[in-house]
Amino acid sequence: MRKLASIQRISKLEPIEGADSIVKATVLGWQLVVKKGEFKEGDLCVYCEIDSILPEKPEFEFLKPRKMRIRTIKLRGQISQGICFPLSILPEDVKIEEGKDVTEILGITKYEPPIPANLEGVAKGKFPSFIPKTDETRVQVLQDVLDKYKGETFFYTEKLDGSSATYYYNDGEFGVCSRNLELLETEENTLWKLAREHNIEEKLKSQNKNIAIQGEIIGESVQGNKYKLRGQHIYFFNVYDIDEHRFLDLDEFENFFSNLELKTVPMLERNYKLSNNIEELVELATGKSVLADVQREGIVLRPVKEIVDNTGRISFKAINPKFLLKYE
Ligand code: AMP
Ligand code: MN
Repeated sequence: MRKLASIQRISKLEPIEGADSIVKATVLGWQLVVKKGEFKEGDLCVYCEIDSILPEKPEFEFLKPRKMRIRTIKLRGQISQGICFPLSILPEDVKIEEGKDVTEILGITKYEPPIPANLEGVAKGKFPSFIPKTDETRVQVLQDVLDKYKGETFFYTEKLDGSSATYYYNDGEFGVCSRNLELLETEENTLWKLAREHNIEEKLKSQNKNIAIQGEIIGESVQGNKYKLRGQHIYFFNVYDIDEHRFLDLDEFENFFSNLELKTVPMLERNYKLSNNIEELVELATGKSVLADVQREGIVLRPVKEIVDNTGRISFKAINPKFLLKYE
């Protein structure tokens, strides 16, 4: 699980041009603005990532106008992501160790965008345990992974800002799931509507194996419909072989969806030698969407041949800061 708040070292402090009361700090792969004089280079702090929701306590009062949520902001032309607090915000009995997760200790939760009624549906049960939930780690916390796989051939796709859907065919049963739940079939539910519209049940059945596919739904009434589309559309980003417990490699993935005539997320680059420079990856994420004349949310990077190591599946996101500034 993602550490929203943890004890981290401020690896760098640099001046910001034209500003004398604030400075730029680097923590993990993040850059943020801190008050001048509050920290020294090399100090430990409590670092809270963007999308942290802080509890309503006096020390976090300043976040009240922002609904207690830490967002991406720009100060004096400097993008700032996250907040550094002094270690003194921790209860006294907490042992200070670099990297320690203090999310729960501080009562911090993750901001989740609201799911509109047409996508929410009626729960049939929990998300099936035999399929991984959709999720991507932010590149800013993956320096070790980047160092390990630097130079390997990766591909990256456009990250679409919508809501995720999982469809599966397992032991003769077809299922439809939102991010966290399996859904009952109803007339109105968008995930089921798309399943019927694209004959997903028949298409999965025709594979003669237990299989799941996962994609992002975008369009009208989804996340503000930033792409200004009519109706709803689904773009797939995963095929999972349930019996073999593995995601298909890029070439298998592309064949699979082209045979089934289902759309996949926009491919931006299929022969990318992974850099271990986080700033460079964020730069790569910055740009317009393929689907409309708007800033894209970012990119998702994966090795051309799937890798699963002791940290899990190697797949991560880099978010476009311009997107965050515009929409958050
Ligand atoms: P987030 O939306 O920040 O929680 O990032 C993870 C989610 O991005 C995944 O769970 C997917 O639903 C979604 N997503 C959108 N586009 C892509 C893509 N191109 N590849 C993988 N996941 C994607
Ligand atoms: Mn999303």
